[in-house]
Amino acid sequence: MMKCSFCGHEFDENRALGGCTSCGLLKKCDLIKCPNCSFEMVPEPKWIKKLREIRRK
Ligand SMILES: [Zn+2]
Repeated sequence: MMKCSFCGHEFDENRALGGCTSCGLLKKCDLIKCPNCSFEMVPEPKWIKKLREIRRK
């Protein structure tokens, strides 16, 4: 799971809206798009997720 840094919506990044597909590059960029507000963000490194899980407890 990852959390949108814009609206706070939590979603599975594997099921996110596939990021940008229309920025004009041949290869689509790695951005993840929030299904709630369409905000595009850079995927979080795993260590950041772990850090957040630890903090949550
Ligand atoms: Zn969002």
